[in-house]
Amino acid sequence: MAVLDLKRKLAILSDAAKYDASCASSGAEKRNSVGGKGVGSTEGMGICHAYAPDGRCISLLKILLTNFCIYDCAYCVNRVSSNVARARFSVKEVVDLTLNFYKRNYIEGLFLSSGVIRTGDYTMEEMVRVARSLRLDHDFRGYIHLKLIPEASPELAAEAGLYADRVSINVELPRDESLAELAPEKDAAGIKRAMGHMRLRIEDHADPARKTGRRRFATGQSTQLIVGADAARDGDILARSAALYGSYQLKRVYYSAFSPIPDGSARLPLARPPLVREHRLYQADWLMRFYGFGQGEIVAPGEDLDLAVDPKTAWALRHRGDFPVDVNAADRETLLRTPGLGARGVDRILQARTQTRLTLDDVKRVCGSVKRAKPFIVTADWTPGAAVDGEGLRASLVAPQQLSLF
Ligand code: SF4
Repeated sequence: MAVLDLKRKLAILSDAAKYDASCASSGAEKRNSVGGKGVGSTEGMGICHAYAPDGRCISLLKILLTNFCIYDCAYCVNRVSSNVARARFSVKEVVDLTLNFYKRNYIEGLFLSSGVIRTGDYTMEEMVRVARSLRLDHDFRGYIHLKLIPEASPELAAEAGLYADRVSINVELPRDESLAELAPEKDAAGIKRAMGHMRLRIEDHADPARKTGRRRFATGQSTQLIVGADAARDGDILARSAALYGSYQLKRVYYSAFSPIPDGSARLPLARPPLVREHRLYQADWLMRFYGFGQGEIVAPGEDLDLAVDPKTAWALRHRGDFPVDVNAADRETLLRTPGLGARGVDRILQARTQTRLTLDDVKRVCGSVKRAKPFIVTADWTPGAAVDGEGLRASLVAPQQLSLF
């Protein structure tokens, strides 16, 4: 094989990493750079952005250690039968790249994944060596997200957790039977086992009663589900997410619309699903995590989300009898279920109404807009009357004004 220069490797291995969506950093503890001993955070090759819950945007060097892989997952551009240019970083190259980019303030951290080379343990060991060297040899205090190889030993995964802020194990396909068909070398039960082990480790390290004197550990794990590579409907995907959140205490499930790949298998769709489908799944995911909705309330297994309106509006249109909601009297739970009212807006409404009876303008002031909430709420000076039952309500709520989250 021709020897590739570092720039060419970076081009190949950052491009190959772009299919992984599970790299946001929400909920991670910030490593402290104060003290002067730690190292160091352009748009450019391999740099992606992730958002913390406070809205802080962080830049990560997002790369694969290698895009060689011994597996043949039909949906993956890096599968062994794929005819793509291959490259492999050495451990030292990844460490040096990360440090150089960090010192130049190009990045605030590293997202590292890899194809499987030789064995799961061998691959995981290489990735752990990168993180270990960054933390122990170079006192690197930036953010590290490591993708775990499910076939690797629990001990290696546990060591990865000592150096990473976040780890993730990709479930990839929402249905186990799809995984068996499209990624026959992968083992759905093994993926679950690996997630279960990691959950226990994370909880163990987070337990304040046992934390004293213990080394820090990754604060959470996440996963990715590919949307549109198999026949799973949105209801099936969200049911899987709900089960994953419940069973493994995941910080996030990421949804990645399937991208057709060169020389793809005939078992795969020719076109990617509409991006709005991915967007609706994220909205539905938020409803489950922050708005008190059960998965079954949003969409039944075997059914798809309404692409024309956001899932909360779709739910409200199916439950028109519950509306309009009096913003001066309704409890938080009910307000959260009202279209157009986000969690922050609801908290502001609850605060503001202790001082005065809110008018429509007051709600607009605290929520930023009442455009979508208006047909569903009653205020001191506004009632939608029969509009909430009107035939034209759904049509009036359809895009383009549906592009905001809630
Ligand atoms: S194991 Fe990962 S990198 Fe390898 S073919 Fe499957 S999805 Fe792609």
